[in-house]
Amino acid sequence: MSFSSNLIFLGAPGSGKGTQAERLKAMGFGHVSTGDLLRSEIKKGSELGKEVESILSSGKLVDDNTVLRLLQANLNLDGNNYIFDGFPRNLDQAKMLDSEVLKEKAAQVIYFKLDLGVLLERLTNRRTCKDCGAIFNLKFKAPKKEGVCDECGGENLFQREDDKAEVIENRLDVYMKSIEPLLGYYREKGNLRELDAGKSSEEVFSELKQDLGI
Ligand code: AMP
Repeated sequence: MSFSSNLIFLGAPGSGKGTQAERLKAMGFGHVSTGDLLRSEIKKGSELGKEVESILSSGKLVDDNTVLRLLQANLNLDGNNYIFDGFPRNLDQAKMLDSEVLKEKAAQVIYFKLDLGVLLERLTNRRTCKDCGAIFNLKFKAPKKEGVCDECGGENLFQREDDKAEVIENRLDVYMKSIEPLLGYYREKGNLRELDAGKSSEEVFSELKQDLGI
């Protein structure tokens, strides 16, 4: 891959960051989603998983140091470019990412900008495959056969606990409070690009590639 920079994806839950990161993976990027890492700890039933389970189901944030440690344990930046999805979630995490993870390494920041009403509709209709993690949407990207994953054929499509209406409100509230300071931080550094995440997933992907020159 000629493109040589890490990518930091910013945007609300449901703005399409994870979907686009999965597509870019095929082009040689590593994809690290702190939400996925935390859910995997819960699934494994590890000590960490037990500690964070109730935090995730409430829609609040896990503490910064815990997430940072988990992130560091799951990536190797030597010779690899990563997409950071779901980290940073606040200004302190952005500074930690610079000083303790990226250090001197380059990163471009992509902000997936999306209207709140659209977000709500996307999140409440999102379904995830328990077996392979593929993401569907009952309105915009329904599985061909109800309840069955198009990718792996598993019959385990489910609604994430934190995609239920009561918790979504909380997650969006947490997001709204943190996004402006984060955008300000990266605007000042001069490495922020904005994307209209309201377009179709294909359009967003081609704009993203165009923006990155890949
Ligand atoms: P996500 O899949 O990115 O929407 O994350 C799901 C949940 O995991 C969030 O609502 C938080 O509880 C937790 N989480 C994920 N990433 C972070 C992070 N960077 N800092 C704190 N908590 C996080």
